[in-house]
Amino acid sequence: MDRIAKLAQIITSEYDNERVVVCCVLKGGHQFFSDLVHYMKKALNRQGKTLPMTLEFIRVKSYENDKSSGSVHISMSDKELRELEGKNLLLVEDIIDTGNTMKKLLERLQQYNIKSVKVASLLLKKTPLSCGYVPDYVGFAVPDLFVVGYCLDYNDIFRDLDHICAISETGKLKYAI
Ligand code: 5GP
Repeated sequence: MDRIAKLAQIITSEYDNERVVVCCVLKGGHQFFSDLVHYMKKALNRQGKTLPMTLEFIRVKSYENDKSSGSVHISMSDKELRELEGKNLLLVEDIIDTGNTMKKLLERLQQYNIKSVKVASLLLKKTPLSCGYVPDYVGFAVPDLFVVGYCLDYNDIFRDLDHICAISETGKLKYAI
């Protein structure tokens, strides 16, 4: 929570009275998004600043078990994406692993005239499989393990954990689909 409050302070100080679309990347980003927006509002109050925020949600799915499926499904329609034109967009993601999901999402967004696109990710995995993508704001770097909790899942399980931990090999087998 301390780290999220700090990120909120940094993020709010970098936008100046401009409208920002804060977009939660579902489902994993939900808890971080909710806490980040909460602390952004607090930080703005403290800074005596106004930052009109619009909250948006996008569903992106790329993993099955603990492996990337290679393809990325994005839930927003062309019409919905066109509504982002001319706006500042802050994408709020749970974790950047290989970086492929975010890279593909950002590539897709490039065809719309979005004023600025920034990415806040709670976690950044230290993995040799990284494509090199680094988000604008990072909460914590984590080791190359599959982590769950705080809305991060393993086949949709463990999102309800309050803490973040690595799933064991036994757990992976038990909850595989
Ligand atoms: P990437 O494309 O960067 O490899 O993976 C990004 C997405 O895969 C994340 O948004 C998340 O949904 C999922 N993911 C990657 N690594 C992990 C992990 O360690 N734990 C969980 N729960 N999801 C992960």
